Amino acid sequence: MPPRGTTSKFFQKKQQRDSSSEEESSEASEEEEIKTRVTRSKTKPSTSKKASSSTSNKKKKPIDEDDEDFEVLSFSEEDTSSEEEYKVAKKKNTKAKATTKTKGSQSKSTRTTKRKKKEESDSSEGEEEEEQQKKKKKKTTKSNPNGPKLTEKQREEMNQIIKKIGESKKLFIGCHVSYGSKGVETAPIAAYETGCYGGFAFFLGNQKTYSQKEYTDKMVSTFIENCKKYNYDPKNLLPHASYLINLANPDQTKLEKSKTLFLSEYQKCERLGAVRYNFHPGSTVGATTLEAGCKQIAECINWANEQTVGVCSVLECTAGGGHSIGHKFEHLKMIIDHVEDKNRVGVCLDTCHMFAAGYDLRTQEGCEKVFNEFDEIVGFKYLKGMHLNDSKVKLGTKKDRHENLGKGHLGIEVFKYIVNNENFRNIPMVLETPEGLYADEIQELYSYYNEKEVKPESTIDE
Ligand SMILES: [Zn+2]
Repeated sequence: MPPRGTTSKFFQKKQQRDSSSEEESSEASEEEEIKTRVTRSKTKPSTSKKASSSTSNKKKKPIDEDDEDFEVLSFSEEDTSSEEEYKVAKKKNTKAKATTKTKGSQSKSTRTTKRKKKEESDSSEGEEEEEQQKKKKKKTTKSNPNGPKLTEKQREEMNQIIKKIGESKKLFIGCHVSYGSKGVETAPIAAYETGCYGGFAFFLGNQKTYSQKEYTDKMVSTFIENCKKYNYDPKNLLPHASYLINLANPDQTKLEKSKTLFLSEYQKCERLGAVRYNFHPGSTVGATTLEAGCKQIAECINWANEQTVGVCSVLECTAGGGHSIGHKFEHLKMIIDHVEDKNRVGVCLDTCHMFAAGYDLRTQEGCEKVFNEFDEIVGFKYLKGMHLNDSKVKLGTKKDRHENLGKGHLGIEVFKYIVNNENFRNIPMVLETPEGLYADEIQELYSYYNEKEVKPESTIDE
């Protein structure tokens, strides 16, 4: 195992599971799933962080209505694949939090203050915190309890090794970065500072509103410049869609809202030059058939493809909670079958979701079997990205709880398999794991290459 140690201000800010929405919902059918989420929320380690204060598109932190209750969702709520589920989760979660947040009864400024206080108490949020994290960075390296310490020299050596393997093998491993209130144009900088090699993921805008702000031309040009500067190929970016989107919803009014946001984010990708747009297929919300849901998702993709150029829809496999679509390879295949331009549809496999959905990836043999099945049903040519996460829950439990690599029920074999398998080349592979160990985990993943440990030479003497 390569040493763990350094933390970064960027990953300290995320990883908070939070299902938030302002609207009410009466989707009683999702009750069970929601309970799970509330439990998850309650059992979150005390070190869990509020997500970044804003992914607003303005540098200046906005205080408009859209931003009011805005908190970035972490990626561990992938089973929140429908608007309804999302709303119920918010409702329940709000109750669970009880004193944390009160809707409607407080002034905006009071609520903002409350949020700020909570964020501060989580010692994770805001620019001040970022500054403090920055200052503490070296100290953190020494105090991290998660493993052997890495000196600056060793880290530098490790980075050289990563560069070498990354370049020669087209192995692009990064993580999901948040950019807070600094604007999307700073995402490539955050990725670079976090240690992403070749690729990274990010949210395109405010996760809580259907009316995201548009990017300014300046933001777009700066984003593109920063990608060039830090050597991120647009095809290795894996922007993540808003969780509000549910293209499978049979309710026409709700579908229209989802479609509008979907297209808006699709166009944002187009402007940024990001050619892969990662989203959760959706949920039937128990009100339509799987087949009808898949067909409708494909029709939405066709509709968005007609209005854009070059962007590829990347369907993420899901854990299978509620009525979500995408937890079987057959679902993904069914959607792809209905998409007209096969060059503009693909798949992102999330190891945690696959495991939760019942695909046993705990051994090399298991991986071989599962990925062969994927190849037969969907085909590796459609693989446009990976989410690399361990799982807090057991095989087939259909719950989506991400865990740090090697600390969950999934284990590390699948990651060794992926890093050493030619099918996983030339695509963005991003971590969505909790608790700020991205830099270490990225290094760890590269160390699996060739199934032998790759360590900085200077660690050998120790
Ligand atoms: Zn994921």
